[in-house]
Amino acid sequence: MAIERTFSMIKPDATKRNLTGAITKTLEDAGLRVVASKRVWMSRRQAEGFYAVHKERPFFDELCEFMSSGPTIVQVLEGENAILKNREVMGATNPADAAEGTIRKMFATSIGENSVHGSDAPETAAEEIRYWFSDVEIVG
Ligand code: ADP
Ligand code: MG
Repeated sequence: MAIERTFSMIKPDATKRNLTGAITKTLEDAGLRVVASKRVWMSRRQAEGFYAVHKERPFFDELCEFMSSGPTIVQVLEGENAILKNREVMGATNPADAAEGTIRKMFATSIGENSVHGSDAPETAAEEIRYWFSDVEIVG
């Protein structure tokens, strides 16, 4: 299995509850390495651009409002099979459906305020990394 990079965010509900370290430790314990990280308070416009794929969904406004409501940690994670591994350690979108030991099961408060984001495929990972980071900010 090849070494991959994926894009991750620790969402405002989690930064507000001081969970940046706990969530990052869970990612690291799963074998993922943080090769880029910064704290951003994204604008409404940045949130709309990042989540453009969801713009027809009924929750789009709520999602963009939430994501621009406080600080977020944007990260690039590296490791074997990193994209799928991150999705596994995140857990299901709705914390009520998330497996024991996953980040969303442990920390998420609702389907909207679900503590973390993770890319779902190689193409979206590359796009999402490029949305937030320049090459010199990623140090493997
Ligand atoms: P995931 O983050 O698991 O990839 P999606 O890509 O389907 O999930 O949705 C993006 C984000 O939109 C979710 O993480 C969540 O914050 C929000 N979201 C998804 N579905 C709902 C919903 N039914 N109501 C409110 N917010 C939602
Ligand atoms: Mg998604």
